[in-house]
Amino acid sequence: MRITLLGAAGEVTGSAYHVATKHTQVLIDFGMFQGRSADERRNRVPRELNPRQLAAVVLTHAHLDHSGRLPLLVRRGYRGPIYATPATIEVAELLLEDAARIQAFDTERTNRKRRRAGRAPVQPLFTDADVQQVLGLFEPLPYDRAVTVAPGVMARMIEAGHILGSASIELIVTEQGRDYGIVFSGDIGPQGAPILKDPGLIKDADVVFLESTYGDRDHRSLDATIAELTDLVRRAADHWGKVLVPAFAVGRSQQIIYHLGEMFRASEVAPFPIYLDSPMAIKATNLYKHHPELYDEKASAMREQGKLWRDLDMLHTCETSAESRALNDLDGPCLIIAGSGMCTGGRILHHLKHNLWRRETVVLLVGYQGAGTLGRLLADGAKRVRIFGDEIAVRAEVHGLGGFSAHAGQSELLQWLAAMARNRPRVVLVHGEDRGRQPLARLIKARFGIDAELPELNDVIEV
Ligand SMILES: [Zn+2]
Repeated sequence: MRITLLGAAGEVTGSAYHVATKHTQVLIDFGMFQGRSADERRNRVPRELNPRQLAAVVLTHAHLDHSGRLPLLVRRGYRGPIYATPATIEVAELLLEDAARIQAFDTERTNRKRRRAGRAPVQPLFTDADVQQVLGLFEPLPYDRAVTVAPGVMARMIEAGHILGSASIELIVTEQGRDYGIVFSGDIGPQGAPILKDPGLIKDADVVFLESTYGDRDHRSLDATIAELTDLVRRAADHWGKVLVPAFAVGRSQQIIYHLGEMFRASEVAPFPIYLDSPMAIKATNLYKHHPELYDEKASAMREQGKLWRDLDMLHTCETSAESRALNDLDGPCLIIAGSGMCTGGRILHHLKHNLWRRETVVLLVGYQGAGTLGRLLADGAKRVRIFGDEIAVRAEVHGLGGFSAHAGQSELLQWLAAMARNRPRVVLVHGEDRGRQPLARLIKARFGIDAELPELNDVIEV
């Protein structure tokens, strides 16, 4: 069989693998290129790929860098099944519909400018109609059961502990009377993170495609990060300040709420109101509530005792923008979680505009801040920023909390691979820049005696 890397080779976005056996063709993930590498020529269906010849797509998880090119695939004629776990299907609906909405809005604004300049209008990458076609093709796959997805190809989903519904995929491909185990790690979560189960281990494989986002380092420990969070929240409460948390809707928002619940319950901080000011995050939180079968032991026990979510009497949700604006008139202490996670748009902007200049405000940056974003400027200690055209002084305390990653660190990646390393599989490092995958490759050689492969875009792995 031939496995072609159609993305995430030497970089962290655009995940996609084309698996061609003697009898059939399958895609694993079909993600968007994002950030600097997101130019239009790359976000397309490669010419060599004929969507009508594909028997199936299997999706590791809903993040756009793994799912965001699916609408382009259906536009090019794909009508086969897209297999994913039930929770991934629900999260994908949320993320893909939101992406279509943002693109419609951005394209509209671009085209207003282009019309005035006498230029032809541009088209969005995909529309809501394309997304609805994708949603109609989803087929749920349960965890831990091998299911035939194409002639001679079975797929098994294994918990990846990254976001709700996330999975590693084990493909069992039968060719010439022999079974080959091809493992795609997807994005692997850290050990011991709250709510979701830890990544499951796979015992055997012939080839492993391993993510290497943080192949060069371990994260700060979660305990130390929570202690720092507790301290900051307590200080803000003492000064009657507002705590602003720009956060991604799926995963990070729920984790922050979970930790605040623990803090209040343990009386480490006197309870104060928390506002979840993001329709997306509210919907995502409801998805987490509706999938208790995916919780780890602690979260399951807390749920049975009625402690999880319900004891968060302090949690208020803001559905409308009027409710969001009303928060401007509130006094602290309170904590506001709003998107976007890197302060590039969304409701967090007006909260920042109204509060960054106040000394009692605390801004908590709990996720990665990309170069050139307002979040990065704040993280780098800017004293003045521009928001909605106004210059705003930054007198607030701005803190980056690095320990909340949804990705495994270096030691955890090695530990995950160790379960399969005994039979010396081929290891292909993907979903990481060279800075991450080269140090990981050296450790894999030293620890397991395996020469990991570091492919480039469009390279073919022949098995
Ligand atoms: Zn992901």
